[in-house]
Amino acid sequence: STQIQLASRPVGWPTHDDFRRVVVELEPLAPGEVRVVNEFISVDPYMRGRMNDVRSYTPPYALDATMTGGAIGRVTESESTDVPVGAVVSHQLGWRDVAQGDASGFRVVPELPGVPLSAYLGILGMTGLTAYVGLLEIAHLAEGDTVFISGAAGAVGTAAGQIARLRGASRVIGSAGTDEKVALLTEKYGYDAAFNYRSGPVRELLAAAAPDGIDVYFDNVGGDHLEAALDAFSDGGRAALCGAIANYNSDETPAGPDNMSNIVTRGLTLRGFTVGNYLEHFPAFQHDMAEWFAAGSIVFDETVVDGIDNSVDAFLGLMRGENTGKMVVRTAV
Ligand code: NDP
Repeated sequence: STQIQLASRPVGWPTHDDFRRVVVELEPLAPGEVRVVNEFISVDPYMRGRMNDVRSYTPPYALDATMTGGAIGRVTESESTDVPVGAVVSHQLGWRDVAQGDASGFRVVPELPGVPLSAYLGILGMTGLTAYVGLLEIAHLAEGDTVFISGAAGAVGTAAGQIARLRGASRVIGSAGTDEKVALLTEKYGYDAAFNYRSGPVRELLAAAAPDGIDVYFDNVGGDHLEAALDAFSDGGRAALCGAIANYNSDETPAGPDNMSNIVTRGLTLRGFTVGNYLEHFPAFQHDMAEWFAAGSIVFDETVVDGIDNSVDAFLGLMRGENTGKMVVRTAV
């Protein structure tokens, strides 16, 4: 099995020297185990946090050990009756082309006609659920709300914009880092307005896009975007604090918003969450998503990088914004 290990803890932006490719001889299967050939593995922003040796909601990656993360593959050998040969399984043994372990760590998923297996790492999986839970459970999206989503052309962001619209938002505004992504937001993803955050101060760009203010902010970015949202909020506004990618590769203390007093004067609610604590909403998410898919009211993008050996480039590309929608690595040859 070809696997990617963490060789050293990056300071600031990771480099190739922080990772190592190894080829591991796999043991014969023990009773209850399965072997899976991965077809796609996921690279996600939260993995940057796990490369640091700090306490967080997920433990840090160990040095000189193969990294883990979301993956989808097919069972090629099985010593378990629950997870038979041929089954498509979603699991957490990513960053390798072949995975094996106890069958309890592998969830069998249905193959949907016309839907690539990679979708289980994105719109049909944890990223879709993150958007769903963040809007509905954390920000309490209500009909008629004006919603602002940062990181809008990414995996969580593209899902969030569509779910906001499907659940009755009256106006959806997004931000992204290139003009092409901005065009996609209004043309493909149904956003009413969108802006390129590199084209000026986010505060001014958001004020122009949301002249009547915003009710809900879905924060994927933090920093200047959170500051702009705090300015734009109408009274009683709600923010779901999902991520703060603007800070992930910085080795300096990020500057905080300078307008936190708006939280007090406008009676705002800002609530953070990690999707792992809201897995009980997965059935409702799956049910709604299946209906939306069947009705043709959900679209999605993926940026596919080929080859396990290019996993680190895929991860770095994600951090630099080279993806539209979900970034995945295709491991199958
Ligand atoms: P994305 O697909 O959105 O990829 C990351 C994107 O971030 C890039 O494409 C890039 O797009 C953007 N970006 C990078 N640097 C900056 C910056 N300095 N300012 C603004 N945008 C930047 O990743 P995900 O959808 O997987 O994740 C989105 C966010 O959600 C992340 O913050 C992540 O940590 C968080 N998350 C949180 C979860 C939770 O449980 N709370 C679960 C899953 C994700 P661009 O070209 O627009 O700059």
